[in-house]
Amino acid sequence: MQNEVKLWKNTISCLETELSKATIGAFFADTELLSLEEGKAKILCSNGISADYLRNRYKTKIQDTLTTLTGKDYTVSFEVKKVTLPQDQDLGPIFKSSQNDGLVVSYNFDSLVVGFSNRLAVSVAKAVVEQPGSLHNPLFVHSGVGLGKTHLMHAVGNAIKERNPKAKVLYSPAESFGNALIKAIQNRRPTSSFRKKYRMVDVLLIDDIQFFAGRQSTQEEFFNTFNELHLANKQIVLASDRHPSEIKKLEQRLVSRFSGGMVADMQEPDLDMKIEILRRKAREKGATLKDEVLLQVAEQITGNIRQLEGVLNQILAISASQNLDPTEELVAGVIKNTPCPQKFISTEDIVQSVCDHFGIDLEIMSSKKRSQNIVLTRQVTAYLLRNLSQMSFKDIGEVLGGRDHTTVIHGVEKIEKNLKESPLLKNQINHLRVDILGKTS
Ligand code: ADP
Ligand code: MG
Repeated sequence: MQNEVKLWKNTISCLETELSKATIGAFFADTELLSLEEGKAKILCSNGISADYLRNRYKTKIQDTLTTLTGKDYTVSFEVKKVTLPQDQDLGPIFKSSQNDGLVVSYNFDSLVVGFSNRLAVSVAKAVVEQPGSLHNPLFVHSGVGLGKTHLMHAVGNAIKERNPKAKVLYSPAESFGNALIKAIQNRRPTSSFRKKYRMVDVLLIDDIQFFAGRQSTQEEFFNTFNELHLANKQIVLASDRHPSEIKKLEQRLVSRFSGGMVADMQEPDLDMKIEILRRKAREKGATLKDEVLLQVAEQITGNIRQLEGVLNQILAISASQNLDPTEELVAGVIKNTPCPQKFISTEDIVQSVCDHFGIDLEIMSSKKRSQNIVLTRQVTAYLLRNLSQMSFKDIGEVLGGRDHTTVIHGVEKIEKNLKESPLLKNQINHLRVDILGKTS
């Protein structure tokens, strides 16, 4: 049993290469490796949502990782933990309260390494914590992927709550804001509960705001949300993969609102900062690595911080499962098998290019409408998201306005089939590929 606990911990560490802490926290936190027998591994999940998510998205990856760590092949299955609640158990206000803020507690200022590349952003963020709503409002942080925006936003939220436990803080990815709005409109539900959620707060943190590009009614709603909060001196913090003025198809009035407080960017970390991040992350996991090993990793991994962390996790997991201190050979082996930092292709660029090409409005593409041209636009978008950014079917479903993953799979398969028969479609998709890759280079 002990071995299984250790092996599962190491497996999760390896998976952190690709997943954010928030995802790990949400879907892997309460999982266990129940048994490991005759080529079969059973994973126990605390609820059906996490079991479905892991099954759909990470089954193969989990199998591969188990093989890497044990040298044996396993087929993975997922079970849901049976919970027997004592009758009339009162889950009470404590259970309901704090968790609704969307904050990950471990993303705080203590665990955030400060260096040349993020010094300004961090000091502005700390000033916001001191005087929320008045000094820098909004705070707009931008950087390339995996460089700490999400971590910094959570740190602001957590620190404000620590100083003032009564403060109402809400962290939300822009995509959740957009999807919740569209659902409220489509179901003809009043938007009042949606508005209450986003407007009755003291601090609103919206991540990956580039998602708003080209989404008109989402922008309209957010404009009003923003104004209401701003007028009431409530703090707004926004993050994006680019400067507000570089977000295409973002209304000018939003660009100017977003730039009206403080805009701070973050760059890739330098060598010293990378070493310090590695040292800290290793320590958090109870490991100490030799300076030479830290230097070796920091020098050779040129991608973002998430990737740096992923390589470290793999080194720690492999050395733990072999009961060896990480040697230079082991480290070299892990680095050799790490894919080069991939060219970052944003979801927004893909969706926008396809909609422009077919002349379909973005919000109509993700609506329930089913006319031929709209369905084709939707299916081509799904196909390109799958092929160019390797997104899961489930996530693609979210981008397309909250569709089921089976619908997405059907759409992608339809395009794959039609590509063989229609030179016109083949030509269109080739053009789109060139267009999208051109935007990214
Ligand atoms: P982004 O939102 O910019 O894509 P994240 O905030 O998700 O990036 O960061 C990716 C990973 O790198 C996270 O696990 C985060 O904790 C870590 N990270 C980023 N910047 C730092 C830093 N300055 N110090 C420590 N860890 C960091
Ligand atoms: Mg992020």
